[in-house]
Amino acid sequence: MFTLRIFLSCLFVSFGAVQLNADDAVAPQAPEKPRPTPENVEPGITFDWVHVDGPYVALTFDDGPSAKLTPKLLDLLAEHHIKATFFLIGENVAENPELVAREAREGHEVASHSWSHPNFGKMSDDGVRGQLRKTDDAIKSAMGKSPTLMRPPYGSIAVRQKKWIHQEFGYKIVLWDVDPLDWRRPGPAAVCNRIVKNTRAGSIVLAHDIHPGTIEAMPCVLKELEAKGFKFVTVSELIAMETPLPPKPSPTPKPSPSPKVSAAPKSTPVKSTSSSPTPHN
Ligand SMILES: [Zn+2]
Repeated sequence: MFTLRIFLSCLFVSFGAVQLNADDAVAPQAPEKPRPTPENVEPGITFDWVHVDGPYVALTFDDGPSAKLTPKLLDLLAEHHIKATFFLIGENVAENPELVAREAREGHEVASHSWSHPNFGKMSDDGVRGQLRKTDDAIKSAMGKSPTLMRPPYGSIAVRQKKWIHQEFGYKIVLWDVDPLDWRRPGPAAVCNRIVKNTRAGSIVLAHDIHPGTIEAMPCVLKELEAKGFKFVTVSELIAMETPLPPKPSPTPKPSPSPKVSAAPKSTPVKSTSSSPTPHN
């Protein structure tokens, strides 16, 4: 039964993620993503990647804080002088308010990831509102101010929901463009390789500080990304650095006789995994 639930969840989320991709700002280096139309783009509201001038990236950690694992991650980030963004579950905030205060005190960004990790896409507005209000209150109580970012569990959210949530709570909706699928526990080496391989300037990297393998992968991730020259900022800092996309080259008049259907050029990330099933984001 559990397997079936996971399978159905994968199916649903896979479909939802494809829809989400169409909703979000398109990256010029990600030709596999459908081009957004004016109707389904919410400029200034939704971000899965940010166009920046410079090697800046944002590491994000979901579903915590974890009393056991988050302190280890915070120690490591402090050693590297790296600021990250934490999308917290309200229930865990209520259990570990001191960890939330530590995250904020050490310069990390604290953001909302709902109270109990439900699927917003299947909920009433009042249900979603209750999840967000309770979490906002818990975070405010723990660190003295409300968050300004929200990531919907599983990345599942309708365009209409994004709009009213932004209007009512002032949140920007943050998704991701790099997903190592660490919730499947593929081992620290795989988590590190996937992140390092797919991260580019402006990336928002998804990970979870509730899985031991993710924490074990982080020394490798930080070392490798630093070696590639990346600089780490919070999601709000990354968004504040956004620069306009360069104008697109005008289309060639002649249709190509053999349209390319293969993968992206070598210089681009191999795959935007945000369209992969992500049952536990
Ligand atoms: Zn999550």
